[in-house]
Formats: sequence, C-alpha cells, structure tokens
Amino acid sequence: MPDGSLPARPLRDADALAGAGLVPPGDLPALRAVAARYAVSVTPAMAALIDPADPADPIAAQYLPHPSELDATAQELADPIADGPHTPVKGVVHRYPDRALLKPLLACPVYCRFCFRREQVGPAGGVLDEAELEAALDWFAANPGVREAILTGGDPLMLSPRRLAHIVRRLSAMPHIGIIRLHSRVPVADPGRVTAALAEALDTETALFLCLHANHAREFTDAARAALRRLSRAGVALLGQSVLLRGVNDTAEAMEALLRTMLANRVKPYYLHQLDRAPGTARFEVPIAEGRALLASLRGRLTGLAWPTYALDLPEGQGKAPIGPDFAERAEGGWRVRGPLGGEHFQADAAP
Ligand SMILES: *Cc1c(COP(=O)(O)O)cnc(C)c1O
Ligand code: SF4
Repeated sequence: MPDGSLPARPLRDADALAGAGLVPPGDLPALRAVAARYAVSVTPAMAALIDPADPADPIAAQYLPHPSELDATAQELADPIADGPHTPVKGVVHRYPDRALLKPLLACPVYCRFCFRREQVGPAGGVLDEAELEAALDWFAANPGVREAILTGGDPLMLSPRRLAHIVRRLSAMPHIGIIRLHSRVPVADPGRVTAALAEALDTETALFLCLHANHAREFTDAARAALRRLSRAGVALLGQSVLLRGVNDTAEAMEALLRTMLANRVKPYYLHQLDRAPGTARFEVPIAEGRALLASLRGRLTGLAWPTYALDLPEGQGKAPIGPDFAERAEGGWRVRGPLGGEHFQADAAP
C-alpha cells in the first residue's frame, strides 16, 4: 500500500484497487471489463505487501487484474484440466481410483490472476447447500475404493469452522478414508481466518494434510507464520504447492527463497505446477525447458527436503504428470547418471 496503511476489507473491484493506489487510473476502463469477467479480491494482508512503486512486484503480479486478461489465446481452455466430465455428484471430482476431490464452495480469499479454475471461482460461487453437501459426503461413504478426500474449491478454509468441522467429522467416521487433504491459500492470503476454532475443526485422528498454495517467500508474513504454527499444533501436516510463474518465482533466487521459507515454516514442498493454460493467463507462462533448468540448478544446492515434484496437469483429465529434470539417461549397457554436485557416473546394468 502506498501510505503503508491497511485497507479494512478486501478490495473487490477495479475502482477499489485504483482508490487504494494499486492500479493506474488510466487502466480503469480495461480493468473494469476484466473484473466483470473474472473475480477480483485482494485481502488487506496481501494489499499491504504490494509495493505500488515497483512495476514488477511479485505480489501485485499474482492478484492485480491486467488488461491482457481479455486476450485469450487459441491454446487456452475454459476448463483446462477437464473437471467437468469426472463429476459423479455435484461438488465431487473423481479421476483417480484412490482419491477424489470435494469442492464445498468456489469462493477464495483472493482471486489469483493465473487461476486454472478462473471460469468457475468467484465470491458468489458454488456453495453446496446442506442437501448437496450431504449427497457429496454420502458419495464418499458409498465408495470404499476412495481412500483420500481432497477438499478444494475455491478454498475450503473459507467455510465456517462449524461447517468444516462437520465435513471433517463425517469423513473421519468413514473407515476407508485414511487421508483428508485440504488445498488452501488462506494461511498466507488471509491468515486472520485461521482462528483457534478453525484449527480445532481440523484436529482429527485421521491423517490430515493441508497443502498450502504459496508462490513467493514474501507471502509468509508474521501473521501467516503464526497461522501455520497454529495449524501444525493442531496436528495438521503441512505441504506446499506453487505455480511456476513468470515475474513471480521464475528465477533461481526467488524459487530458492520460496522453498526455503516454506520449509522454515514446516511446509514440505510437494508440487511445483506448470501453468495451466486458462484464458488470459499467457503472461505468466514459463517454458517447461526453463522450469526444468531452474529446478536442476537448485538440486544439490538446497536440502533435499525442498525438492518439489514439477508437474503438468494434462488436459482432458489425464492426470498430473511429473516433468522435472532427468538425471539418468539410458546408454549402451547401463545408465548415465548426472550428479547434482557436478560430474557424471555410468551405472552398468547388473550382470544377468
Ligand atoms: C490434482 C488432483 C488430485 C490429487 O492428485 P495428487 O497427485 O494425489 O496430488 C486428485 N484428483 C483430481 C481430480 C485432481 O485434479
Ligand atoms: S486460491 Fe486457488 S482456486 Fe482460488 S483463485 Fe487462487 S488459484 Fe484459483
């Protein structure tokens, strides 16, 4: 924020952003059109992190709408990972045999400009009503092959602690559900939501993982750190997922700082996602070759705990494929293996 003050409430449209000095008034007509198409929200916590004097601010890049969002390229898809065809009941996406998504609502604390579900998410969006939520939970109860329930959305931590506790209790009571996982941006984007009541709602005997979506080290404010500490005290295991984004975390320095900051907060980096080609997001794309080289440059320099799986979610619902750098290459009679500290080793095949 320009004067270092916090807005009291999320900034939810182009005019509010201009009023806070975060976007140039000259862009207003274009940004009003963008905001009419894709939801906008910048929480006080994230607005406070933005330096409006820096045109390359990595926090601003993630949340502030940009006129280019109205230009969709031919390669971009409205539902890039094809959730639609894999929905047995409203709010459930079932693509892998052992796990399924539960989307209790489609609202988020912030609306990321690169979001792969940007055509679906929004403040009005998609809250399952009581009966729909029970039907979705009944689907999990009726499918014993599904061992893991993954709450996503939207952001499941936007639910009230009471509703969240109900979902966690019902899933925990299903003997075949061994893992409950939540994907959330709330602990960094709106840490004030992580109240004692919310942490208590997540405290269960069933293994519960929270996969935190964060893309830049600066998102780990003191309040975010406190929120993560509160969750880990409640027995929540913390994982991290990030999207590789041009201008946000596409340098070795920025990626190293992000991964190290995650770990320092007990967040184990899990996925680094290649950008999904949702409409109007082309400005964020980093070529896969560059992503692989970036990660390879960190191997050996960073604790092995920091290593995420670099993955591409294939269109048409074919799942997430690992696309990270290869260190082993087939050669005549064995494997040529590159060492992360330099050097190369030939591992001959074992004698038959
Ligand atoms: C991403 C995703 C999952 C989770 O995949 P993991 O590789 O286990 O993290 C599960 N179901 C769907 C439909 C997904 O898109
Ligand atoms: S928090 Fe997740 S679902 Fe919500 S806008 Fe950001 S990327 Fe999309």
